[in-house]
Amino acid sequence: SSIPKIVILGAGYGGILTAQRLQKELNYNEADVTLVNRHDYHYITTHLHMPAAGTDSIENTRVSISKLIDEFKIDLVKSSVQEIRLHDKKVILEDGTLSYDYLVIGLGGEPETFGIPGLAEHAMTIRSINSVRLIREHIEYQFALYKNERRPQERINFVVGGAGFSGIEFVAELADRIPRLCKEYDVDPTLVNIYNVEAAPAALPGFAPELVEYAMNVLEKKGVTFKMGIAIKECLPGGVVLNNGEEIRAATVVWTGGIRGNRLVEAAGFETMRGRVKVDEYLRAPGYENIYIIGDNSLIFNEEGRPYPPTAQMAMQQGVCCAQNIVAAIRDKSMRKFEFSNKGTVASLGRGEGIAVVGDKKYQGWKAAQLKKLVDLRYLFIIGGIPLVLKKGRFL
Ligand code: FAD
Repeated sequence: SSIPKIVILGAGYGGILTAQRLQKELNYNEADVTLVNRHDYHYITTHLHMPAAGTDSIENTRVSISKLIDEFKIDLVKSSVQEIRLHDKKVILEDGTLSYDYLVIGLGGEPETFGIPGLAEHAMTIRSINSVRLIREHIEYQFALYKNERRPQERINFVVGGAGFSGIEFVAELADRIPRLCKEYDVDPTLVNIYNVEAAPAALPGFAPELVEYAMNVLEKKGVTFKMGIAIKECLPGGVVLNNGEEIRAATVVWTGGIRGNRLVEAAGFETMRGRVKVDEYLRAPGYENIYIIGDNSLIFNEEGRPYPPTAQMAMQQGVCCAQNIVAAIRDKSMRKFEFSNKGTVASLGRGEGIAVVGDKKYQGWKAAQLKKLVDLRYLFIIGGIPLVLKKGRFL
């Protein structure tokens, strides 16, 4: 009969790797592949904390999708997905409809606010190019306002909710940026406060305690005040109220405290846990042989029965595996079981600082910061080869 239609939703880490792998493996006229993404660029989510704080340019954090795929082989549709209709195998876009035989869902996660009042309305989140532009401009504007109003302290108080991976990486960049902003706007740096509030007793879950301690020391030296084991009870237009009764006045609140699956996945009718779907060993949604869910919307358990944290590394490996499995399904060959292979974890702590775990080796300081750069360059190389490394890579 006709050629099978493969539709990939989202051109993030998972979606791009799926598309590239399909493009490579499929023969001419073996399948129609369509990649749908809200923007015509792919953004490097793991970098967003830098342009958010203003320590790197936005252009270093995004790549035009047409540079990453062969548009003779893959149809790129720039549109926003509105609904996934499982019963008639259709995806509703803001400006059209697509039908599929195979569907790959790689729409990425969304901030989870745990129902904390005011967070969704008054806190900013690091989730896309548009959201980090807002954070960056907002921070600069607070400095400008501070000098033009009667020096209200809340303009130069900054609250970051969450001390996980992205919270710590962002707070580190912010601490690097503030002294430069102070210089530019003639503000005394000793007056600025950066608070990192975390409900859990410790920062950076998953890292060894000595690395966590190292990280917190580095950041405290850069001027970050930690409030650990304290939850944000409410977010107001001009600050936060903590569950110990304290109120911090701050015109800037950035929430990084939680991530959940995309609402479209829940709305489609899949069974979800915090918006994420427990996929089978081939990465398919339970009950749907033709639907693959990858990246932040999927849930995979390790041998101890604990869910893996959603990471770029996970999304990339899933993208490769799901592409191979779709090709196998089309060719009636046997599929490959997904197995996550942990290549290590690196968290940057701002300029020249970081922590890393690779196998059973731990790194801190300059070495870890170099590793972070290596991981970043490797990713650019994987998706775009040497030209992209030269164009967007950071070597210094
Ligand atoms: P994403 O990469 O989020 O991509 C989703 C894509 O779908 C986007 O292009 C989006 O525009 C598109 N999309 C969403 N909704 C729609 C719609 N309705 N219609 C059309 N398109 C849509 N992980 C690591 O492994 N290492 C790190 O160092 C690291 N650092 C991080 C730092 C920060 C600040 C953040 C926020 C995350 C970090 N992560 C890190 C986590 C990592 O970024 C995510 O796990 C990864 O991006 C998930 O990939 P994905 O393919 O599921 O989705």
